[in-house]
Amino acid sequence: MTENQGPTALGEDTVTELADRIQGFVFVPGDAGYAAATAGFNLRSQQRPCLVVAAAGAADVRAAVAFAAARDLPVGVMATGHQPFPAEDGFLLVTTGAMRTVEIDTERGVARVGAGARWSDVVEPAQAEGLAPLNGSSPLVGAVGFTLGGGLSPFLGRSFGWGADHVVAIEVVTPDGVLRRVSATAEPELFWGLRGGRSNFGVVTELEIGLFPVTSFYGGGIYFPAEDVEAVLRAFPEVVRAAPDAFTCSVALLNFPPVPEIPEPLRGRFLAHVRVTHLGSDEEAEKLMAPFRAIGEGILDTVARHPYGAFPVVHTDPVDPFPYEEQGALLAELPAQAVESLVESAQVAAGGLVTVLEIRHLGGALAGRPIAAGPVAARDAVFNVWGATVGPPEVVDAGMSMLGGMIERLSPWATGLSYTNFAGRDDRAENVFTAEDLERLRALKKRYDPRNLFRVNNHNIAPE
Ligand SMILES: Cc1cc2nc3c(=O)[nH]c(=O)nc-3n(C[C@H](O)[C@H](O)[C@H](O)COP(=O)(O)OP(=O)(O)OC[C@H]3O[C@@H](n4cnc5c(N)ncnc54)[C@H](O)[C@@H]3O)c2cc1C
Repeated sequence: MTENQGPTALGEDTVTELADRIQGFVFVPGDAGYAAATAGFNLRSQQRPCLVVAAAGAADVRAAVAFAAARDLPVGVMATGHQPFPAEDGFLLVTTGAMRTVEIDTERGVARVGAGARWSDVVEPAQAEGLAPLNGSSPLVGAVGFTLGGGLSPFLGRSFGWGADHVVAIEVVTPDGVLRRVSATAEPELFWGLRGGRSNFGVVTELEIGLFPVTSFYGGGIYFPAEDVEAVLRAFPEVVRAAPDAFTCSVALLNFPPVPEIPEPLRGRFLAHVRVTHLGSDEEAEKLMAPFRAIGEGILDTVARHPYGAFPVVHTDPVDPFPYEEQGALLAELPAQAVESLVESAQVAAGGLVTVLEIRHLGGALAGRPIAAGPVAARDAVFNVWGATVGPPEVVDAGMSMLGGMIERLSPWATGLSYTNFAGRDDRAENVFTAEDLERLRALKKRYDPRNLFRVNNHNIAPE
């Protein structure tokens, strides 16, 4: 799409007619609310739709999709704007931020999650019932986009598996404008494809997801100074080798900016952030962490028994929007040479341009392939490597080129695919799905979206 089909192309009357049918809001470029409606968490990912429908509910989504379909207008979906995609224009953007309703069904152990709910919206009511969802590290990430991109919980994933594998039912408005409720028994092929293929098949208005009886964990973060980074990277394989499924560990090499929002001991420093979560006893966790403990005390240590709702303490992800670019890779193994490569990358990262380089342990229940498991290629990997660079364009561009080199050097141990939720702006469907899944997804796309209307703001699956 190169042309911006503005409101003139659509006709003012036509837009007004749509707005009259919508309970939420409709914006066109130039409207006072347009900039806020199209702004996501990632300030580098500014989409330029010719029409925005800020949906208040499923009826609005149906009206928006039917409107777009009647005019051959491509459709994109955005909840929080956490994931970077190439900027496009001339399309209709459905935003779901207002659809944040969450209901907990304690009897069935499931949560009904509205399309715009963030993890904080789900964890709090679930914890009130002694339950926890398979949420991610950040309370602000959208539960629906996260889960349909695979759903890697760094707290519960190794114990229970991928979020996408614990979806019970999905309500989705497909490109024909029909609201469908799909599950393992109702339109099972679409149910399969959505649990990995997300906005390629429509706008999901509600998810029903499984919950687990977890109310606390032992874990947190230990921040080691620059001089300990190499020792931390060398200790990591030893720790994960002994880890039971209940224990999850990752190491992030971080360049903290010298800004007042960062606590004094970390401000402006390069360091290694060890992140751990254990669902067993405190003593067992400490025993498993012994190789890290042997390195030293660290600058800051938040490892303790925490109520589950305190999960953000483990990764301490940023809460304010900022401009960034990210790239990830999946590793099948982490032999000694791969650790050497990470140590070399750490020396380069210490220069400051790469803001974060993280290695996360997968495996455990994440390696499982339940019957009718969705197209989540990351289940074939044992580690996820992910990095990001933050700042103005020239800094991000230089940092991404450096990060690309780090990821390239790990290619001898890589599966060749990226994990959908951590894929970069340039990744395509071929980079996040296995060839076998992609073939099946293409056939599904042909059936539900033969005109490929849903081709914006996603890893587009071209119809067969
Ligand atoms: C700080 C941070 C921490 C993170 N931690 C984790 C983690 O621990 N584990 C993990 O797996 N990922 C993690 N992620 C990645 C995150 O899961 C992805 O960026 C995810 O795509 C975010 O979903 P969103 O809806 O919030 O973002 P958006 O950018 O709004 O959407 C992302 C994608 O989901 C699709 N989508 C959103 N809503 C719908 C809908 N209603 N129907 C159909 N498609 C929809 C969009 O079309 C788009 O393709 C993290 C990201 C950040 C920035």
